[in-house]
Amino acid sequence: MNEAIQPKFNVTTVTCACGNKFETGSVKEDLRVEICSNCHPFFTGKQKFLDAGGRVDKFKKKYGI
Ligand SMILES: [Zn+2]
Repeated sequence: MNEAIQPKFNVTTVTCACGNKFETGSVKEDLRVEICSNCHPFFTGKQKFLDAGGRVDKFKKKYGI
């Protein structure tokens, strides 16, 4: 890994559609998401989880959950 060619990496505030906010590392300044660990049924277990493809895995990988 050559750090010189990596994009700048900042701590970013992510705002979820449910109103929850959390910080993560990102090259973007602001992020908005539709689901988070606070509201997604996969995490809460309150609703039957119907997988939308690999969306959750992709989400978790992106935000390091
Ligand atoms: Zn949420």
